Amino acid sequence: MTKEGRNYFVKCPKCEEKFDRSIVENEKIQNRYYHKECAELKRQDEQDKEELINFIEQEIGVNCNRKILNQIAKYRRGGYRYKGMKYTIEYYMLLGFDVDEIEGVGFIPFHYDAAKQHYLTKKDVEKASKNTTPTRQREITISPPHKKDRYKRKNDIDIENL
Ligand SMILES: [Zn+2]
Repeated sequence: MTKEGRNYFVKCPKCEEKFDRSIVENEKIQNRYYHKECAELKRQDEQDKEELINFIEQEIGVNCNRKILNQIAKYRRGGYRYKGMKYTIEYYMLLGFDVDEIEGVGFIPFHYDAAKQHYLTKKDVEKASKNTTPTRQREITISPPHKKDRYKRKNDIDIENL
């Protein structure tokens, strides 16, 4: 390593890895050098955080006080995602609970996994219904045997055209 090269060594604030900014693609934000993809993640994360706060304030009507902001920051440091926290709040309310400014969002760690499971299942169901094939739709519309003859007479042309 040359003396000159060493001067380009920086630590990415996002992933905390050191890299040579003269070689590795990077982005400078507020005087710090980020890996290009870490800068992208940072932006996404900030956007998700803003959405979470907007959701709490505007959609639930709860003021994001210091307590709530601290809880969110603590959970984020603990590995929870902002998007996941938003789902968890939605899920919590779906269960019939209310969110208030006194208790804040302290329930998040207790419901996070269940909320995640709930939304993954919901997504699967939506995906499955979108992927229904024509074959399967035909199977579903087959009438029980005792009704079949009547159905056939009434719908002669339609059936032949299928
Ligand atoms: Zn990085």
